[in-house]
Amino acid sequence: MSRTLLASLFLLAFAALSGCATNPVTGGQDFVLMTQDQEIATGRQYHQQLLQQHPTYEDPRLQAYVSRIGDELARNSHRSELVFHFTVLDSQDVNAFALPGGYVYITRGIMAYMNSEAELAGVLGHEIGHVTARHGVRQQSAATVTGILGAVISARAGSQAAGDLSNMLGTALIRGYGREHELEADRLGAEYLARVGYDPQEMLGVVGILKDQEEFEKQRAAEEGREPRIYHGVFATHPANDARLQEVVRAADRFKGSATRSAGRDTYLGMIDGMVWGPGEKQGVLRGRDFYHRDLGITLRFPQDWRVENQPDRLLTLPRDGSAMLQLTVEPLNERLTARQLLESKFKTNSLREGRALNIPGMDGYTALATLNTPFGQRATRTAVIVHDKNVYLFLAASKADGVRPQQDTLFLATIEGFRSLRADEATLAESRRIHVITAKAGDTFARLARDTDLNQHAEEILRLLNGMYPDGEPTPGQRIKIIK
Ligand SMILES: [Zn+2]
Repeated sequence: MSRTLLASLFLLAFAALSGCATNPVTGGQDFVLMTQDQEIATGRQYHQQLLQQHPTYEDPRLQAYVSRIGDELARNSHRSELVFHFTVLDSQDVNAFALPGGYVYITRGIMAYMNSEAELAGVLGHEIGHVTARHGVRQQSAATVTGILGAVISARAGSQAAGDLSNMLGTALIRGYGREHELEADRLGAEYLARVGYDPQEMLGVVGILKDQEEFEKQRAAEEGREPRIYHGVFATHPANDARLQEVVRAADRFKGSATRSAGRDTYLGMIDGMVWGPGEKQGVLRGRDFYHRDLGITLRFPQDWRVENQPDRLLTLPRDGSAMLQLTVEPLNERLTARQLLESKFKTNSLREGRALNIPGMDGYTALATLNTPFGQRATRTAVIVHDKNVYLFLAASKADGVRPQQDTLFLATIEGFRSLRADEATLAESRRIHVITAKAGDTFARLARDTDLNQHAEEILRLLNGMYPDGEPTPGQRIKIIK
Protein backbone atom coordinates (compact mmCIF):
# COMPACT_ATOMS: atom_id res chain seq x y z
CA MET A 1 0.00 0.00 0.00
CA SER A 2 1.23 3.47 -0.78
CA ARG A 3 1.87 5.96 1.97
CA THR A 4 -0.85 8.26 0.54
CA LEU A 5 -3.40 5.49 0.71
CA LEU A 6 -2.36 4.61 4.24
CA ALA A 7 -2.56 8.25 5.24
CA SER A 8 -6.07 8.60 3.87
CA LEU A 9 -7.11 5.37 5.57
CA PHE A 10 -5.75 6.73 8.79
CA LEU A 11 -7.57 10.03 8.31
CA LEU A 12 -10.81 8.08 7.94
CA ALA A 13 -10.04 6.07 11.05
CA PHE A 14 -9.13 9.26 12.86
CA ALA A 15 -12.39 10.94 11.83
CA ALA A 16 -14.32 7.93 13.06
CA LEU A 17 -12.65 8.16 16.45
CA SER A 18 -13.32 11.88 16.78
CA GLY A 19 -15.69 13.30 19.30
CA CYS A 20 -15.83 15.91 21.97
CA ALA A 21 -14.11 15.52 25.32
CA THR A 22 -12.71 17.35 28.29
CA ASN A 23 -9.06 18.32 28.09
CA PRO A 24 -7.26 16.96 31.17
CA VAL A 25 -5.00 20.01 31.48
CA THR A 26 -7.27 22.94 30.63
CA GLY A 27 -10.56 21.42 31.77
CA GLY A 28 -12.09 22.93 28.62
CA GLN A 29 -13.73 21.11 25.77
CA ASP A 30 -11.63 19.98 22.83
CA PHE A 31 -13.59 19.92 19.64
CA VAL A 32 -12.11 16.76 18.18
CA LEU A 33 -10.65 14.09 20.40
CA MET A 34 -10.50 10.36 20.76
CA THR A 35 -12.01 8.89 23.89
CA GLN A 36 -9.37 7.81 26.38
CA ASP A 37 -9.97 4.13 25.59
CA GLN A 38 -9.56 4.76 21.88
CA GLU A 39 -6.45 6.80 22.55
CA ILE A 40 -4.91 4.00 24.64
CA ALA A 41 -5.81 1.36 22.04
CA THR A 42 -4.25 3.49 19.29
CA GLY A 43 -1.09 4.04 21.33
CA ARG A 44 -0.76 0.34 22.12
CA GLN A 45 -1.14 -0.64 18.47
CA TYR A 46 1.47 1.83 17.22
CA HIS A 47 3.80 1.01 20.09
CA GLN A 48 4.10 -2.57 18.81
CA GLN A 49 4.75 -1.39 15.26
CA LEU A 50 7.27 1.18 16.39
CA LEU A 51 9.27 -1.44 18.28
CA GLN A 52 9.54 -3.61 15.16
CA GLN A 53 11.43 -0.79 13.50
CA HIS A 54 13.18 0.76 16.51
CA PRO A 55 14.61 -1.80 18.94
CA THR A 56 14.72 -1.07 22.64
CA TYR A 57 18.08 -0.61 24.33
CA GLU A 58 18.99 -3.91 25.96
CA ASP A 59 19.73 -2.87 29.52
CA PRO A 60 16.90 -3.89 31.90
CA ARG A 61 18.43 -1.89 34.75
CA LEU A 62 18.44 1.34 32.72
CA GLN A 63 14.92 0.66 31.36
CA ALA A 64 13.64 0.12 34.91
CA TYR A 65 15.34 3.30 36.11
CA VAL A 66 13.78 5.44 33.37
CA SER A 67 10.36 3.86 34.04
CA ARG A 68 10.67 4.58 37.75
CA ILE A 69 11.49 8.27 37.20
CA GLY A 70 8.79 8.57 34.52
CA ASP A 71 6.10 6.79 36.54
CA GLU A 72 6.60 9.08 39.51
CA LEU A 73 6.18 12.15 37.30
CA ALA A 74 3.15 10.61 35.60
CA ARG A 75 1.46 9.86 38.94
CA ASN A 76 1.80 13.56 39.76
CA SER A 77 0.52 14.70 36.36
CA HIS A 78 -2.92 15.76 35.12
CA ARG A 79 -3.60 12.21 33.98
CA SER A 80 -2.53 10.26 37.04
CA GLU A 81 -5.05 7.53 36.19
CA LEU A 82 -3.38 6.77 32.86
CA VAL A 83 -0.83 3.93 32.79
CA PHE A 84 2.32 5.31 31.15
CA HIS A 85 4.94 3.21 29.36
CA PHE A 86 8.52 4.47 29.13
CA THR A 87 10.93 2.93 26.63
CA VAL A 88 14.63 3.57 26.03
CA LEU A 89 15.33 3.11 22.31
CA ASP A 90 18.64 1.78 21.01
CA SER A 91 19.31 4.78 18.78
CA GLN A 92 22.13 7.28 18.56
CA ASP A 93 19.59 9.92 17.50
CA VAL A 94 19.07 12.68 20.03
CA ASN A 95 15.34 12.39 20.57
CA ALA A 96 12.40 11.78 22.87
CA PHE A 97 8.76 11.66 21.86
CA ALA A 98 5.35 10.45 22.93
CA LEU A 99 2.54 8.61 21.20
CA PRO A 100 -1.06 9.05 22.37
CA GLY A 101 -2.20 6.94 25.30
CA GLY A 102 0.89 7.37 27.49
CA TYR A 103 3.65 5.81 25.37
CA VAL A 104 6.85 7.78 25.93
CA TYR A 105 10.20 7.09 24.22
CA ILE A 106 13.69 8.34 24.93
CA THR A 107 16.82 7.41 22.97
CA ARG A 108 20.16 6.41 24.48
CA GLY A 109 21.47 9.16 22.16
CA ILE A 110 19.76 11.95 24.12
CA MET A 111 20.43 10.29 27.48
CA ALA A 112 24.16 10.63 26.83
CA TYR A 113 23.82 14.42 27.03
CA MET A 114 22.06 14.49 30.38
CA ASN A 115 23.98 14.80 33.61
CA SER A 116 21.39 14.21 36.32
CA GLU A 117 18.16 12.50 37.21
CA ALA A 118 16.47 15.91 37.27
CA GLU A 119 17.48 16.57 33.65
CA LEU A 120 16.13 13.17 32.65
CA ALA A 121 12.93 14.01 34.54
CA GLY A 122 12.77 17.34 32.67
CA VAL A 123 12.73 15.62 29.27
CA LEU A 124 10.30 12.90 30.42
CA GLY A 125 8.11 15.59 32.01
CA HIS A 126 8.00 17.48 28.71
CA GLU A 127 6.88 14.33 26.87
CA ILE A 128 4.34 13.49 29.61
CA GLY A 129 3.07 17.06 29.11
CA HIS A 130 2.38 16.32 25.44
CA VAL A 131 0.33 13.30 26.52
CA THR A 132 -1.57 14.98 29.37
CA ALA A 133 -2.44 18.00 27.23
CA ARG A 134 -3.37 15.57 24.45
CA HIS A 135 -1.34 17.48 21.87
CA GLY A 136 -1.08 14.39 19.71
CA VAL A 137 -4.81 13.96 19.37
CA ARG A 138 -6.07 17.53 19.25
CA GLN A 139 -7.86 18.64 16.13
CA GLN A 140 -5.28 21.21 15.06
CA SER A 141 -2.53 18.61 15.17
CA ALA A 142 -4.45 15.88 13.38
CA ALA A 143 -2.05 16.27 10.48
CA THR A 144 0.93 15.74 12.79
CA VAL A 145 -0.60 12.61 14.25
CA THR A 146 -1.45 11.37 10.78
CA GLY A 147 2.11 12.00 9.72
CA ILE A 148 3.61 10.20 12.68
CA LEU A 149 1.22 7.28 12.72
CA GLY A 150 1.12 7.06 8.95
CA ALA A 151 4.87 6.64 9.09
CA VAL A 152 4.58 4.04 11.79
CA ILE A 153 2.01 2.12 9.74
CA SER A 154 4.25 2.19 6.70
CA ALA A 155 6.88 0.26 8.65
CA ARG A 156 4.99 -2.84 7.64
CA ALA A 157 5.14 -2.04 3.95
CA GLY A 158 8.67 -3.19 3.28
CA SER A 159 12.19 -1.92 3.44
CA GLN A 160 11.72 1.18 1.30
CA ALA A 161 8.94 2.29 3.60
CA ALA A 162 11.10 1.35 6.57
CA GLY A 163 13.64 3.87 5.37
CA ASP A 164 10.86 6.40 5.09
CA LEU A 165 9.89 5.61 8.65
CA SER A 166 13.33 6.49 9.93
CA ASN A 167 13.13 9.72 7.98
CA MET A 168 9.68 10.48 9.29
CA LEU A 169 10.68 9.73 12.84
CA GLY A 170 13.76 11.80 12.25
CA THR A 171 11.79 14.78 10.99
CA ALA A 172 8.08 14.62 11.89
CA LEU A 173 8.77 13.79 15.51
CA ILE A 174 11.67 16.20 15.69
CA ARG A 175 9.51 18.95 14.27
CA GLY A 176 7.27 18.62 17.30
CA TYR A 177 3.89 20.19 17.76
CA GLY A 178 4.60 23.87 17.15
CA ARG A 179 5.75 26.65 19.46
CA GLU A 180 2.61 26.95 21.62
CA HIS A 181 2.31 23.25 22.34
CA GLU A 182 6.04 22.91 22.99
CA LEU A 183 5.92 25.79 25.44
CA GLU A 184 2.92 24.18 27.12
CA ALA A 185 4.83 20.87 27.36
CA ASP A 186 7.74 22.73 28.98
CA ARG A 187 5.35 24.44 31.40
CA LEU A 188 3.78 21.10 32.33
CA GLY A 189 7.17 19.39 32.53
CA ALA A 190 8.42 22.07 34.94
CA GLU A 191 5.24 21.69 37.02
CA TYR A 192 5.69 17.90 37.28
CA LEU A 193 9.36 18.39 38.24
CA ALA A 194 8.27 20.71 41.06
CA ARG A 195 5.50 18.36 42.23
CA VAL A 196 7.94 15.45 42.75
CA GLY A 197 10.51 17.68 44.49
CA TYR A 198 13.04 18.58 41.78
CA ASP A 199 13.93 22.20 41.11
CA PRO A 200 11.83 23.22 38.06
CA GLN A 201 14.78 25.37 36.91
CA GLU A 202 16.37 22.07 35.82
CA MET A 203 14.06 22.34 32.82
CA LEU A 204 16.03 25.37 31.59
CA GLY A 205 19.30 23.56 32.22
CA VAL A 206 18.48 20.53 30.11
CA VAL A 207 16.94 22.59 27.31
CA GLY A 208 20.12 24.69 27.33
CA ILE A 209 22.35 21.63 26.98
CA LEU A 210 20.20 20.32 24.13
CA LYS A 211 20.25 23.74 22.48
CA ASP A 212 24.07 23.72 22.55
CA GLN A 213 24.03 20.21 21.14
CA GLU A 214 21.62 21.32 18.41
CA GLU A 215 23.73 24.27 17.28
CA PHE A 216 26.89 22.18 17.17
CA GLU A 217 25.15 19.24 15.50
CA LYS A 218 23.54 21.39 12.79
CA GLN A 219 26.93 22.78 11.86
CA ARG A 220 28.47 19.30 11.72
CA ALA A 221 25.54 17.82 9.79
CA ALA A 222 25.87 20.62 7.22
CA GLU A 223 29.60 19.87 6.88
CA GLU A 224 28.82 16.20 6.40
CA GLY A 225 25.77 16.72 4.21
CA ARG A 226 23.33 14.79 6.40
CA GLU A 227 20.23 15.38 8.54
CA PRO A 228 21.09 16.70 12.03
CA ARG A 229 20.34 14.48 15.03
CA ILE A 230 18.46 16.88 17.30
CA TYR A 231 15.54 16.98 19.75
CA HIS A 232 12.21 18.46 18.74
CA GLY A 233 11.60 20.31 21.99
CA VAL A 234 14.29 22.93 21.40
CA PHE A 235 13.55 26.34 19.93
CA ALA A 236 15.28 29.03 17.97
CA THR A 237 16.17 31.00 21.07
CA HIS A 238 18.63 29.77 23.65
CA PRO A 239 16.76 29.31 26.96
CA ALA A 240 19.07 31.91 28.51
CA ASN A 241 17.39 34.48 26.21
CA ASP A 242 13.92 32.94 26.03
CA ALA A 243 11.71 35.13 28.24
CA ARG A 244 8.53 33.11 27.71
CA LEU A 245 10.22 29.82 28.57
CA GLN A 246 11.81 31.36 31.69
CA GLU A 247 8.40 32.71 32.68
CA VAL A 248 6.56 29.37 32.47
CA VAL A 249 9.37 27.62 34.35
CA ARG A 250 9.38 30.27 37.10
CA ALA A 251 5.60 29.88 37.41
CA ALA A 252 6.14 26.21 38.32
CA ASP A 253 7.72 27.26 41.63
CA ARG A 254 4.24 27.44 43.18
CA PHE A 255 3.90 23.66 42.80
CA LYS A 256 6.96 23.02 44.95
CA GLY A 257 6.13 21.00 48.04
CA SER A 258 7.99 20.99 51.33
CA ALA A 259 10.22 18.10 50.32
CA THR A 260 12.96 18.92 47.85
CA ARG A 261 15.38 16.43 46.46
CA SER A 262 18.82 16.70 44.95
CA ALA A 263 19.28 16.68 41.19
CA GLY A 264 20.59 13.10 41.46
CA ARG A 265 23.76 13.65 39.48
CA ASP A 266 25.76 10.71 40.84
CA THR A 267 22.84 8.29 40.58
CA TYR A 268 22.24 9.24 36.97
CA LEU A 269 25.90 9.07 35.96
CA GLY A 270 26.15 5.67 37.63
CA MET A 271 23.19 4.46 35.57
CA ILE A 272 24.62 5.53 32.20
CA ASP A 273 28.20 4.46 32.96
CA GLY A 274 28.92 1.87 30.24
CA MET A 275 26.03 2.89 27.97
CA VAL A 276 26.64 2.50 24.22
CA TRP A 277 27.51 5.75 22.47
CA GLY A 278 27.26 6.41 18.73
CA PRO A 279 26.42 3.65 16.26
CA GLY A 280 25.59 0.26 17.77
CA GLU A 281 27.51 -2.89 16.91
CA LYS A 282 24.69 -3.95 14.60
CA GLN A 283 25.44 -0.89 12.43
CA GLY A 284 29.19 -1.34 12.36
CA VAL A 285 31.84 0.84 13.95
CA LEU A 286 34.21 3.29 12.26
CA ARG A 287 37.64 3.79 13.82
CA GLY A 288 39.75 6.26 11.93
CA ARG A 289 39.52 5.10 8.30
CA ASP A 290 38.69 1.51 9.26
CA PHE A 291 35.19 0.14 9.35
CA TYR A 292 34.43 -2.99 11.40
CA HIS A 293 31.23 -4.99 11.39
CA ARG A 294 31.01 -7.69 14.03
CA ASP A 295 27.88 -9.54 12.85
CA LEU A 296 28.88 -9.54 9.18
CA GLY A 297 32.45 -10.40 10.15
CA ILE A 298 34.04 -7.93 7.73
CA THR A 299 36.33 -4.92 7.72
CA LEU A 300 37.50 -2.42 5.14
CA ARG A 301 39.55 0.76 4.96
CA PHE A 302 38.25 3.95 3.36
CA PRO A 303 40.41 6.49 1.50
CA GLN A 304 42.35 8.97 3.65
CA ASP A 305 40.31 12.05 4.63
CA TRP A 306 37.11 10.83 3.00
CA ARG A 307 34.03 11.12 5.15
CA VAL A 308 31.91 8.05 5.76
CA GLU A 309 28.16 7.94 6.21
CA ASN A 310 26.79 4.80 7.82
CA GLN A 311 23.22 4.90 6.50
CA PRO A 312 20.60 2.24 7.33
CA ASP A 313 20.76 0.74 3.85
CA ARG A 314 24.30 1.59 2.70
CA LEU A 315 27.78 2.70 3.58
CA LEU A 316 28.68 5.78 1.63
CA THR A 317 32.07 7.45 1.43
CA LEU A 318 33.06 10.59 -0.40
CA PRO A 319 35.84 13.15 -0.48
CA ARG A 320 35.25 16.52 1.25
CA ASP A 321 34.72 18.27 -2.08
CA GLY A 322 32.05 15.76 -3.11
CA SER A 323 33.85 15.03 -6.40
CA ALA A 324 33.28 11.28 -6.16
CA MET A 325 31.30 8.63 -4.28
CA LEU A 326 31.71 5.01 -3.36
CA GLN A 327 28.88 3.04 -1.85
CA LEU A 328 28.68 -0.43 -0.38
CA THR A 329 25.44 -2.34 0.01
CA VAL A 330 24.88 -5.87 1.21
CA GLU A 331 22.24 -8.42 0.24
CA PRO A 332 21.65 -12.05 1.19
CA LEU A 333 23.03 -14.50 -1.36
CA ASN A 334 20.07 -16.28 -2.92
CA GLU A 335 21.21 -17.22 -6.41
CA ARG A 336 23.70 -19.80 -7.60
CA LEU A 337 25.58 -17.49 -9.93
CA THR A 338 29.25 -16.75 -10.53
CA ALA A 339 30.59 -13.46 -9.18
CA ARG A 340 30.55 -12.04 -12.71
CA GLN A 341 26.94 -13.12 -13.25
CA LEU A 342 25.99 -11.62 -9.90
CA LEU A 343 27.57 -8.32 -10.93
CA GLU A 344 25.60 -8.27 -14.20
CA SER A 345 22.37 -9.24 -12.48
CA LYS A 346 22.63 -6.85 -9.52
CA PHE A 347 23.59 -3.82 -11.62
CA LYS A 348 21.29 -4.87 -14.49
CA THR A 349 23.95 -4.53 -17.17
CA ASN A 350 25.44 -6.80 -19.80
CA SER A 351 28.12 -4.39 -20.98
CA LEU A 352 30.88 -4.84 -18.42
CA ARG A 353 34.32 -3.60 -19.48
CA GLU A 354 37.80 -4.60 -18.29
CA GLY A 355 36.29 -7.29 -16.06
CA ARG A 356 38.52 -9.42 -13.86
CA ALA A 357 38.41 -11.55 -10.75
CA LEU A 358 39.24 -9.74 -7.51
CA ASN A 359 42.32 -10.86 -5.67
CA ILE A 360 40.98 -11.23 -2.12
CA PRO A 361 42.17 -14.30 -0.21
CA GLY A 362 39.37 -16.72 0.56
CA MET A 363 36.69 -14.73 -1.22
CA ASP A 364 35.04 -14.92 -4.59
CA GLY A 365 34.87 -11.48 -6.18
CA TYR A 366 34.70 -9.75 -9.55
CA THR A 367 35.21 -6.15 -10.67
CA ALA A 368 34.54 -4.28 -13.90
CA LEU A 369 33.81 -0.87 -15.37
CA ALA A 370 30.24 -0.22 -16.47
CA THR A 371 28.30 2.83 -17.60
CA LEU A 372 25.46 3.30 -15.12
CA ASN A 373 23.19 5.95 -13.65
CA THR A 374 24.77 7.63 -10.63
CA PRO A 375 23.95 10.70 -8.50
CA PHE A 376 26.24 12.60 -10.94
CA GLY A 377 24.26 11.40 -13.97
CA GLN A 378 25.28 8.62 -16.35
CA ARG A 379 28.95 7.85 -15.67
CA ALA A 380 31.63 5.26 -16.19
CA THR A 381 31.51 3.49 -12.82
CA ARG A 382 33.77 1.07 -10.95
CA THR A 383 31.62 -1.84 -9.87
CA ALA A 384 32.51 -4.90 -7.86
CA VAL A 385 30.82 -7.83 -6.19
CA ILE A 386 32.25 -9.88 -3.32
CA VAL A 387 30.65 -13.05 -2.00
CA HIS A 388 31.39 -13.61 1.67
CA ASP A 389 29.62 -15.97 4.05
CA LYS A 390 25.94 -15.90 3.04
CA ASN A 391 26.02 -12.37 1.67
CA VAL A 392 26.75 -10.48 -1.51
CA TYR A 393 28.60 -7.15 -1.15
CA LEU A 394 28.07 -4.67 -3.96
CA PHE A 395 30.38 -1.75 -4.63
CA LEU A 396 29.45 1.13 -6.89
CA ALA A 397 31.85 4.05 -7.33
CA ALA A 398 31.85 7.05 -9.67
CA SER A 399 33.53 10.42 -10.18
CA LYS A 400 31.67 13.66 -10.77
CA ALA A 401 33.93 14.38 -13.77
CA ASP A 402 32.88 12.40 -16.81
CA GLY A 403 35.37 10.10 -18.55
CA VAL A 404 35.98 6.64 -19.92
CA ARG A 405 36.86 5.53 -16.39
CA PRO A 406 36.26 7.22 -13.02
CA GLN A 407 39.02 9.70 -12.12
CA GLN A 408 39.54 8.23 -8.66
CA ASP A 409 39.59 4.64 -9.98
CA THR A 410 42.89 3.69 -8.29
CA LEU A 411 41.47 4.71 -4.89
CA PHE A 412 38.22 2.88 -5.59
CA LEU A 413 40.06 -0.33 -6.44
CA ALA A 414 42.33 -0.06 -3.41
CA THR A 415 39.27 0.31 -1.16
CA ILE A 416 37.47 -2.62 -2.76
CA GLU A 417 40.53 -4.89 -2.61
CA GLY A 418 41.07 -3.94 1.03
CA PHE A 419 37.80 -5.66 1.96
CA ARG A 420 38.49 -8.73 4.15
CA SER A 421 37.20 -10.97 6.94
CA LEU A 422 37.41 -9.70 10.48
CA ARG A 423 40.19 -11.50 12.36
CA ALA A 424 39.58 -12.91 15.84
CA ASP A 425 42.07 -10.43 17.32
CA GLU A 426 40.06 -7.55 15.82
CA ALA A 427 36.80 -8.44 17.59
CA THR A 428 37.18 -5.69 20.18
CA LEU A 429 37.60 -3.09 17.42
CA ALA A 430 34.12 -4.00 16.18
CA GLU A 431 32.58 -3.25 19.57
CA SER A 432 30.60 -0.06 20.11
CA ARG A 433 32.08 2.90 21.89
CA ARG A 434 30.71 3.41 25.38
CA ILE A 435 30.31 6.18 27.91
CA HIS A 436 32.64 5.85 30.88
CA VAL A 437 32.28 7.96 33.99
CA ILE A 438 35.61 8.91 35.52
CA THR A 439 36.78 11.23 38.26
CA ALA A 440 38.70 14.22 36.90
CA LYS A 441 42.24 14.58 38.21
CA ALA A 442 44.20 17.79 38.71
CA GLY A 443 45.41 18.96 35.30
CA ASP A 444 42.67 17.18 33.33
CA THR A 445 41.35 19.34 30.51
CA PHE A 446 38.88 18.39 27.81
CA ALA A 447 41.64 18.87 25.24
CA ARG A 448 43.80 16.29 27.03
CA LEU A 449 40.90 13.88 27.65
CA ALA A 450 39.96 14.23 23.98
CA ARG A 451 43.38 12.86 22.97
CA ASP A 452 42.61 9.66 24.89
CA THR A 453 39.40 9.02 22.97
CA ASP A 454 39.50 7.57 19.47
CA LEU A 455 36.71 9.78 18.16
CA ASN A 456 37.51 10.83 14.62
CA GLN A 457 36.71 14.50 14.92
CA HIS A 458 35.53 17.22 17.27
CA ALA A 459 36.35 15.06 20.29
CA GLU A 460 36.96 18.05 22.58
CA GLU A 461 33.67 19.75 21.69
CA ILE A 462 31.76 16.48 22.03
CA LEU A 463 33.17 15.86 25.52
CA ARG A 464 32.21 19.40 26.58
CA LEU A 465 28.68 18.97 25.17
CA LEU A 466 28.22 15.59 26.86
CA ASN A 467 29.26 17.09 30.19
CA GLY A 468 27.14 20.24 29.90
CA MET A 469 30.28 22.41 29.75
CA TYR A 470 30.09 23.71 26.19
CA PRO A 471 31.71 25.83 24.79
CA ASP A 472 34.63 26.51 27.14
CA GLY A 473 34.15 24.78 30.51
CA GLU A 474 36.83 22.56 32.05
CA PRO A 475 36.47 19.76 34.59
CA THR A 476 37.42 20.50 38.19
CA PRO A 477 39.54 17.95 40.08
CA GLY A 478 37.36 15.36 41.81
CA GLN A 479 34.39 15.99 39.50
CA ARG A 480 32.67 12.97 37.95
CA ILE A 481 32.71 13.39 34.17
CA LYS A 482 31.82 11.38 31.08
CA ILE A 483 34.36 10.29 28.51
CA ILE A 484 33.99 8.08 25.42
CA LYS A 485 36.01 4.91 24.87
ZN1 LIG B 1 7.83 18.47 22.60
